[in-house]
Amino acid sequence: MALLSKEASLALVRRVHRLIGMQNGVTLHGAPQPRPRRNAPRPGAEHFDVIVVGAGPAGSAAALVAARAGLKVLLLERGEYPGSKNVSGAAFYGSAILHELIPNWWEQAPVERYLTRRVLAFMTADTSVAIDFRTTRFAEPPYNGFSILRPKFDRWFADQAVAAGAFLLNAAVVDEALWEDDQVVGVRVRRDEGDLRANVVIACDGANSFLAKHAGLQREFHAHEMSLGVKEVLALDEHVIRERFHLHDNDGLAIEYIGAITEEVSGGAFLYTNRDSLSLGVIGQISSLAEHKRRPYELLETFKRHPSVAPLVRGGRVREYSAHIIPEAGWNMLPKLYTGGMLVAGDAAALCFVAGLYLEGINYAIQSGIAAGETAVIAHQERDFSARSLARYVERLRARHVLTDFANYRHAPGLVNSPRLQNRYPEIIAAAAEQVFRVNGGPKRKILPIALDTLRRANISPMHVLQDAWQAGRSFGW
Ligand SMILES: Cc1cc2nc3c(=O)[nH]c(=O)nc-3n(C[C@H](O)[C@H](O)[C@H](O)COP(=O)(O)OP(=O)(O)OC[C@H]3O[C@@H](n4cnc5c(N)ncnc54)[C@H](O)[C@@H]3O)c2cc1C
Repeated sequence: MALLSKEASLALVRRVHRLIGMQNGVTLHGAPQPRPRRNAPRPGAEHFDVIVVGAGPAGSAAALVAARAGLKVLLLERGEYPGSKNVSGAAFYGSAILHELIPNWWEQAPVERYLTRRVLAFMTADTSVAIDFRTTRFAEPPYNGFSILRPKFDRWFADQAVAAGAFLLNAAVVDEALWEDDQVVGVRVRRDEGDLRANVVIACDGANSFLAKHAGLQREFHAHEMSLGVKEVLALDEHVIRERFHLHDNDGLAIEYIGAITEEVSGGAFLYTNRDSLSLGVIGQISSLAEHKRRPYELLETFKRHPSVAPLVRGGRVREYSAHIIPEAGWNMLPKLYTGGMLVAGDAAALCFVAGLYLEGINYAIQSGIAAGETAVIAHQERDFSARSLARYVERLRARHVLTDFANYRHAPGLVNSPRLQNRYPEIIAAAAEQVFRVNGGPKRKILPIALDTLRRANISPMHVLQDAWQAGRSFGW
């Protein structure tokens, strides 16, 4: 949900809190639902080659690929227009991927700034220590990443699918998949005469994919596998942004924060520069929010007041407020990705890559949408829409490095959400940095004794550090 009033966003947050019962380890939707009755389409339902549900980045990519191949494609979106309900930071790192699909796409798309500077900041309540990476090479086509605003970007992207021949139907909520002989053959849309038939349905309906669950492909989620993100867009003059963040022209900056910025809650925060606004938000693991009885919008206020964040957001006027859930357990929560007549892509398939250094969902949504569109095209060439034929999707995801990335980083979400990495290490890093940089007239100490001293004071044994270093190596290193 995006572009909602603050009250509406808060209502979502309250609903999630009610659903999780403010307890740890409870599934997000209570007990597993009985499998819904498998309805068949009503006679006379209109027929398409491909129906794509959800016009986010995954859905528009799938629809574009299938429509370009000459298939009759319907793209269904529950919002008033694509992007009207979508939430991201939004730092988009899929520029090269989209360039494959739409050469020099950035020349026509509504982009904000290309990201030439990335910062990872470790925070305590009053300190920050940051790794600051900046390169002019990310300012060269096809660019490494852009800041975007989803309501504009998603609308533009869906228009590309329409220009390629797809039909787009807005304000169309899909309620269920329709079945014949254990094969998905269409969808039921919430409106009169709402049954539509298709040889292939591609579910791109986002993080809490009703379709993937309805088809029995996705299980119920646990609260530790999902996060809740709240985000604001703050309007700020273009020249203030350039000066404040030391940016040239359209250069942009992405900062990811970890540590006490979310107080004791597992999660993180982000701040991205747009042309004349800032996108900033806080993400909290739902089980951890429940355990600590914290509400994410309170954490957002704490984040904005932090001494190293407050000067960056000073004078910003709230233009948008939104909230959304994020599937963040990666490899461990991937669903079965296909069944006869149906494929699942993007967040609906939990293909969101959240691992401290990374918060990337849009690029994986596009990659998987392309792979799903290509699989549907081959299925049509062979006139075979069985599960066996659609199983090719998995190979295409591997070939596009989607599954390999998730498999290689499968230990990262667990490590990133561990209490030591979330809070203790940022404190230790900050305390050690303070000792290194403080000049008080005493002798200068070497770094190893300072580090050991800080660990001792934080009550962390070198053995724990070795264990965590091993986990970090396993998660990110080898
Ligand atoms: C706070 C926050 C910050 C984030 N920051 C970043 C970031 O900086 N960079 C990044 O790459 N990723 C980020 N992400 C993740 C990213 O937003 C998602 O991974 C990405 O949007 C997934 O794309 P998608 O197309 O799969 O799903 P979505 O973008 O969620 O699109 C799903 C679409 O389906 C529609 N839909 C849903 N149900 C139905 C239905 N029943 N019938 C019809 N239509 C339906 C929705 O309206 C929506 O348009 C962030 C997420 C959050 C919440």
